[in-house]
Amino acid sequence: MMTEQAAAQLTSTALAHTGGSEAGQAAASGSALLDRYQGSLTGVFGTPQAVLVRGSGARVWDVEGNEYLDLLGGIAVNALGHAHPLITSVISSQQATLGHISNLFTSPTQIALAEKLLALAEAPAGSSVFFANSGSEANEAALKAVLRHRKDTAKPRILALEGSFHGRTSGALSLTHKPAYREPFGELIGGVEFLPFNDLAALEGAFENDDVAGFFLEPIQGEAGVLPLDDAYLLRARELTQSCDALLVLDEVQTGIGRTGEWFRHQAVAGGVDRRDVAHTEAEVPARVPDTVVPDLMTLAKGLGSGFPIGALVSFGERASTLMGAGQHGTTFGGNPPATAAALATLHAIESGGVLENVNTVGAYLADRLRAIPEVAEVRQFGLHIGVDLKPIPSAEAPAKDLVTLAREGHGLIINATGGSTLRLAPPLNLTAEEADQAAERLTAACQSLTS
Ligand SMILES: *Cc1c(COP(=O)(O)O)cnc(C)c1O
Repeated sequence: MMTEQAAAQLTSTALAHTGGSEAGQAAASGSALLDRYQGSLTGVFGTPQAVLVRGSGARVWDVEGNEYLDLLGGIAVNALGHAHPLITSVISSQQATLGHISNLFTSPTQIALAEKLLALAEAPAGSSVFFANSGSEANEAALKAVLRHRKDTAKPRILALEGSFHGRTSGALSLTHKPAYREPFGELIGGVEFLPFNDLAALEGAFENDDVAGFFLEPIQGEAGVLPLDDAYLLRARELTQSCDALLVLDEVQTGIGRTGEWFRHQAVAGGVDRRDVAHTEAEVPARVPDTVVPDLMTLAKGLGSGFPIGALVSFGERASTLMGAGQHGTTFGGNPPATAAALATLHAIESGGVLENVNTVGAYLADRLRAIPEVAEVRQFGLHIGVDLKPIPSAEAPAKDLVTLAREGHGLIINATGGSTLRLAPPLNLTAEEADQAAERLTAACQSLTS
């Protein structure tokens, strides 16, 4: 009881203007807190949309008591929604039993999580997992593995795609296409080239000189607006990297952990693709034709801990696993007991709760409802990873951005814009059909108020 009182006191102190009084808590308004935010937090995020104080499932509440249906899920992170009882109790009981220990030690949860991820990824013998704390850090680890390979092979080039997003740390940023993110920082990691998206001819051309060390791909580009790579492109990228001894790195930070309706998006790539779609001529068809896209390296984060920070680099097979030797990489926090317990509980809840089936059925249902909205031009749906293009609206230059504000302020709906006319939805994977209905109704109303 004493500790609960202390925890409640901490919360009310945070809410109060000057102290921990109840009057202070009652007086806490969103705008006063945002003023304090401006005075105390680094301005890289601009002004936050609201001050949130509580969440449950697909719903969150702000400090003024307004309720929102949350179709953003902390940007594809809250796989099981807010305050999931299993995740909550596993994190708190793990912390109460054994919290942080450093990587000079290990714990049963860390080992069990690595084994579980390798099993779900159907990784071959010799595969292994490195735990980090975020998507950027998982990609940093992958990039360091590629740099090791680049040094060993003297192949100078590293490839990524136009529209890519791999993170904000300087290594991951080197692989991120958007000039506005990269250019303020001048020189980053050298030798990175961006290929045009889904362009098979450019892909063939990039491998002509056998000088590529690694290729970073998102199977579906999330920040770019939920844009899928064609199966034929992914299969050909696998073939070319394999035959040129380049590492294929799949960034599944956003698409992994059930988001698109399978454990990892690359597992959905269909075999038996018509080879004439892939190769220029019959003569060029290699003898060994892969019908799956098994990467050398795969990065994970976002949904893995259902909100608890954790990232992972999965190395497929012994060669990828041994690119970095003992002492060549590390982390203080990565893979600690509470983080790995949260991730183990997330995987368990997805597996035992029929969540992947739910992602597919509710995702398809929500997409149908979205397609019926008059202002919607196109819906790209992969499980509960959904991009929505809006029709042009004469009165609005960036209708998606206006809609984000309108939906939140007027209709109790949290959504996200990835561009001027594109929305991204990434709700919890256990979203119900009723919640999907309500979300579609609220978005329909918000679109109406946008055009009226
Ligand atoms: C979010 C994201 C990242 C970066 O993850 P952080 O946890 O923000 O560092 C990298 N790659 C993809 C595809 C992402 O969606």
